[in-house]
Amino acid sequence: MTKIHFRTILVLIIALAVIFGMGLFVYRIVSNSSEWIQHTYNGHLSGNGGLADAGIIYDRNGNVLAYSEDKLRLYNYDEVTRLSTLHVVGDDSMNISSAVQSSYRSYLTGYNFFFGLGLPKTLRKGNDITLNIDSNACNTAYYALDGYNGAVVVYNYKTGEVLCSVSTPTYDPLNPPELTEENESEYDGIYVDKVLAGRYAPGSTFKIVTLACALENIPNVENEIFTCNGAKKIGGKEVTCMHIHGDLNLKEGLSQSCNIVFAELAERLGKDKMTRTAEKMGFNTSYEINGTYTAKGNYNVAKANKNDLAWSGIGQYTVEANPMQMAIMCGAIANGGTAILPDEIKSNAIKSIVNNGQKNLISSDIAQKLDEYMRYDVTNYYGDDLFPSLTVCAKTGTAEVGEGREPHAWMIGYAQDEDAPLAFAVIVENGGYGYSTAGPVAVAAMEACALITRNNQ
Ligand SMILES: [Zn+2]
Repeated sequence: MTKIHFRTILVLIIALAVIFGMGLFVYRIVSNSSEWIQHTYNGHLSGNGGLADAGIIYDRNGNVLAYSEDKLRLYNYDEVTRLSTLHVVGDDSMNISSAVQSSYRSYLTGYNFFFGLGLPKTLRKGNDITLNIDSNACNTAYYALDGYNGAVVVYNYKTGEVLCSVSTPTYDPLNPPELTEENESEYDGIYVDKVLAGRYAPGSTFKIVTLACALENIPNVENEIFTCNGAKKIGGKEVTCMHIHGDLNLKEGLSQSCNIVFAELAERLGKDKMTRTAEKMGFNTSYEINGTYTAKGNYNVAKANKNDLAWSGIGQYTVEANPMQMAIMCGAIANGGTAILPDEIKSNAIKSIVNNGQKNLISSDIAQKLDEYMRYDVTNYYGDDLFPSLTVCAKTGTAEVGEGREPHAWMIGYAQDEDAPLAFAVIVENGGYGYSTAGPVAVAAMEACALITRNNQ
């Protein structure tokens, strides 16, 4: 009797295991099949990583950026356009994971859940995708980067449309590089869309966050006078400034980008308030952009001593920012505190499944103050003629990277113009001084995008 009982239980266990295994198998097929079938090792695909019959990718003006012909995946006829749009469009491989050809591969190939790619071609239809980017604006930004590595993004902060997004180094999708040990450094980061996935020390562009925190938490901070002697001991160690600024108020502190003013403020504000403002303004957050996620910026002062905290207030210590995140922060300031999240894709069919939405980053009165300060920066420091046709609010940054290399150059900001509501972030790796290297790139990209929004009206 005991023996039979034991066998019954054994059979039951085996049966349950089989049912569980089947369940897992079905679950994995349901959840992963569209991904598996797209892999290049799938022998049913006719080359080109499954893109042989995929739909067309257009830019916002109907320029063809990628298409399929005679089982081949082909790209724009112009080499510079192929280079400047690579990280948004992608290539035959899925190496650039955030690119449209990777994240919307099923949609582009017309993958069907029941039939996979097994339907006859007449029944299976690859879907086309229209992007918000303008290939001419991307080309302009690419030329302006002038061989430097980095990232440029410009987006419409009223609609969310990403008009220009460029990441370098780049390569020609018709002739992808074969990476070897010798050329590794030349192609470092080549598969990364740095607009979405790059992370860099923000340097002085972070002073906008410290400024917002100070305006919010220190009564009368605008009437205070700070003193910069070129260096100051905070927490027993020195914080240094590029210049000896003497006496200056908060507004002059930002426009002259004085380190002492903002290091001192961060130390006075303390870890909790600084962290709260930084997080509210987009640090330690990942934004969903058309189904992929931006790299999280970093503001973590949990283990910081007083001197570290002071350096964090000027965007050094361990602080990191993502270019798209910084553009979103600027878009929010321009928009009275609320960010309309960026959108790379124009096609309605995809829009209906992706909700980019909006997010409140700053209270409207602080946003208004930041607007005033960032505008003062341009008129009183960079010079208002820097942007020929635009009324721009901006902040530059020069982020030290150590090891005897040139610092990274940043410029972030936005235009106040109603007919060109554009926010931007530019990072030029090892570009040196922020204003002189990132400035011209920002001007070129912003003016190119202003032509687009003005023509659309
Ligand atoms: Zn100073």
